[in-house]
Amino acid sequence: MEMKERIKSEFEKRFGTDGTLYASSGRINLIGEHTDYNGGFVFPGAIDKCIMAEIKANGTERVRVFSIDIDEYVEFGLEESDAPTQQWARYIFGVCREIIKRGGTVKGFDAVFAGNVPLGAGLSSSAALESVFAFALNDMFNDNRIDKFELARIGQSTEHNYCGVKCGIMDQFASIFGKEGHLMRLDCRSMEFEYFPFKPEGYKLVLVDSVVKHELVGSPYNRRRESCERVAAKLGIETLRDATMEDLERIKGEISEEDYMRARFVIGEKQRVLDVCDALVKGDYETVGARMYETHNGLSKDYEVSCEELDYLNDIAKECGVTGSRIMGGGFGGCTINLVKDALYDKFVKTASEKFEAKYGHAPKIYDVVISDGAHKCK
Ligand code: ADP
Ligand code: MG
Repeated sequence: MEMKERIKSEFEKRFGTDGTLYASSGRINLIGEHTDYNGGFVFPGAIDKCIMAEIKANGTERVRVFSIDIDEYVEFGLEESDAPTQQWARYIFGVCREIIKRGGTVKGFDAVFAGNVPLGAGLSSSAALESVFAFALNDMFNDNRIDKFELARIGQSTEHNYCGVKCGIMDQFASIFGKEGHLMRLDCRSMEFEYFPFKPEGYKLVLVDSVVKHELVGSPYNRRRESCERVAAKLGIETLRDATMEDLERIKGEISEEDYMRARFVIGEKQRVLDVCDALVKGDYETVGARMYETHNGLSKDYEVSCEELDYLNDIAKECGVTGSRIMGGGFGGCTINLVKDALYDKFVKTASEKFEAKYGHAPKIYDVVISDGAHKCK
């Protein structure tokens, strides 16, 4: 049964009525990695994998919600002390609380939801979950008075305050603002953003999930941040956003080789995002792909956040003649994102799956994605 039909039938069965359907998406980031904390750009888009929820006010002060995928029912009140223990329900509770904390209204409601964003694969199923409820509760109880950026912040605060994840704003932003056929360049310093057309006719976007996650000792993430901060301080600027390659060359002798490499990646990545935007305006997907490979190289060689499995997937893509391929996300595991000509698609997926499995003993997971609308009320 289609997801929508399953949700409707479950809602009817549990609550004996019908509500309103809403959906919000997972996301990809085409380019712009490790740029957020450097005041740079990210370039995400919402995808055709979403979480969908049917919701109806129930006239009480309690929330009653059933997760189809987890096959679990939870009830909770709306006071801070009513926090549920189930992880998935904390996302929903958190969204309710964050709306209330901002002076918004949330009353009791009934909900049934399901999704097809793979969990924990780097496509941000959690942001999809937060965003669908934030969007719906704004529509149902607040006459859409909460602006969309605040809805994204409500999702982000939910992760921070109720789920123990200190994430940035990109995932929720993409899930809320996503638009079919468009990526969004978000300036992580000013929070301004712009839509760019992404209609790669003759190409597919495919994610290859290595299903590995390397836990590295000594918090490599924080050490990368510190390198960037040291170089910025040396240059007398707040973040590497304002640095050029010339600036970096000028102080090369005064910083460590490692800090130099880290900064070279970040400064290069800013330019690559801008190049990709220009290329998309011209419909030049070959340049987009070339920049994706450069990003991968930078993440692997200069920023050193890749791993053997992801480099292997990138090499296979190159060998197959794939247009663009790179690590997506923070690194040390997870997915590569690949821009693949239609005619190459079958060969690439087969080659990547077989070679990877032969070497690492398990097959990667393959996710095709199409850039789609973010949070919306379903027709
Ligand atoms: P991701 O990278 O996909 O966002 P997270 O660990 O941040 O991974 O979020 C995954 C969590 O979000 C799950 O453990 C679950 O609590 C919740 N979640 C995501 N999708 C669903 C779903 N379809 N049904 C129930 N809970 C979900
Ligand atoms: Mg998440």
